[in-house]
Amino acid sequence: MRHIAIIGSGPAGYYTAEAAQKAFGEDVRVDIIDRLPVPFGLIRFGVAPDHQSIKAVSRRYEATALSDNVRFVGNVTVGQDVTIDELTALYDAVVLATGAPNDRALGIEGDDLPGVYGSAAFVGWYNGHPDFAGLNPPFDGKHIVVIGNGNVALDVARICSKTRAEFAGSDIVGHALDALETAKTESITILGRRGPHQIAMTPKELGELGHLSRATPVVERSDLPELEADALLEPGMRKSVTHLREFAATPESFRADKDIRIEFDFFAAPVRIEGDGKVERVVIERTKLDENLKSVATGETYTIPASMVIACIGYQTPPIDGVPYEHGRGRFASDEGRILPGLYCVGWARRGPTGTIGTNKPDGFAIVELIAADIGGGGGKAGRPGLDALLDQRSVQVVKFSDWKKIEEAEAARARDGAPREKFVTVEDMIKASG
Ligand code: NAP
Repeated sequence: MRHIAIIGSGPAGYYTAEAAQKAFGEDVRVDIIDRLPVPFGLIRFGVAPDHQSIKAVSRRYEATALSDNVRFVGNVTVGQDVTIDELTALYDAVVLATGAPNDRALGIEGDDLPGVYGSAAFVGWYNGHPDFAGLNPPFDGKHIVVIGNGNVALDVARICSKTRAEFAGSDIVGHALDALETAKTESITILGRRGPHQIAMTPKELGELGHLSRATPVVERSDLPELEADALLEPGMRKSVTHLREFAATPESFRADKDIRIEFDFFAAPVRIEGDGKVERVVIERTKLDENLKSVATGETYTIPASMVIACIGYQTPPIDGVPYEHGRGRFASDEGRILPGLYCVGWARRGPTGTIGTNKPDGFAIVELIAADIGGGGGKAGRPGLDALLDQRSVQVVKFSDWKKIEEAEAARARDGAPREKFVTVEDMIKASG
């Protein structure tokens, strides 16, 4: 029998479990350990609440979770309740599928002022992550500044723009829905340190900005390269840039009935955040592209007002004591996923925070191939019973998949009309509902 522990129950974790089942059939036992009492990681806490069709992928993970040889071990924190060394002693393979839940630091003066957030915190707040449910971001100001030109910046700008009616059918948590409803937002400025051809925004997500009931995207025509240059772009990117061209071509008169302007400010690098006890403005330096398409400062600066700043500039994997780590890239140091004998990483923890949810599927299958080559038929390790004994001895209250189903049921039962669920936002409430 082979014993595998996967740490993290997001897409990377579940695709790895699925791959292990396919590779080893009945001859494997997989434990998926998560520090939270609820599974699915990024699907629950990262994917935007108004993108329910993307969240539906969790049904596939559920099929894996419900099989006899895969187990969810929730509410267990590795490094606190059990160590990596203990796990590698108990299992033939330990796979870190911990994602990249921490914000990359902006690293400019004033980035610690109240009202400045990273996207992990802000997205966690509207998605009801227990670590961020109490964030209470200020929506009493008029000007939100979003830093970054990726899909997370788009998610954040769109969520900050929608009306209550536009959240119908979503699972945005009640505290965020209420805060957004009374928001005084007039502008959302999306800062990109490079240009329209360097965005990391996909067409569907960018196109959505053009269909908001009270907000309208604004692009300066002069920021766009000559139309002919679009022909050199790969097709997805060309579609995204076409959306930017449509936004630039929208006549001002069409915007008259919109309350919120979503302004794309390209070639704009934030250099300082200022304010008296809280964020009030952002100092920006105009940039241009060098021959390698990197942004370089021009020396010209200007200031825009900001009542809140959300930096959507990428994520990093939290390091774990004793596990080799690439600090510059914010991920574990590995050789294609092999970290140390018996210890592996997969998904964002291996390659950094890029790609779609689906990218984790081939990743999971690839790591299981390496594991298969390394562990053969298994090394007679204790596996599950060994972990259970340790956790029992330490009085850790484990949440099983069947307990999660009770939490899920309770969340569905308390959902507002038309919503799939109203999430519990504290670990305590989750545990209470699991009993
Ligand atoms: P991302 O795609 O890597 O975008 C990060 C953005 O931040 C880039 O525009 C980058 O600019 C900018 N940036 C980085 N450091 C900066 C700095 N110091 N100052 C100013 N700008 C800075 O990351 P993401 O948006 O967090 O998304 C992560 C992954 O999740 C991506 O693969 C994304 O596609 C995916 N995702 C997908 C969806 C969806 O499909 N609906 C939704 C959300 C996220 P440079 O290019 O100049 O470095």
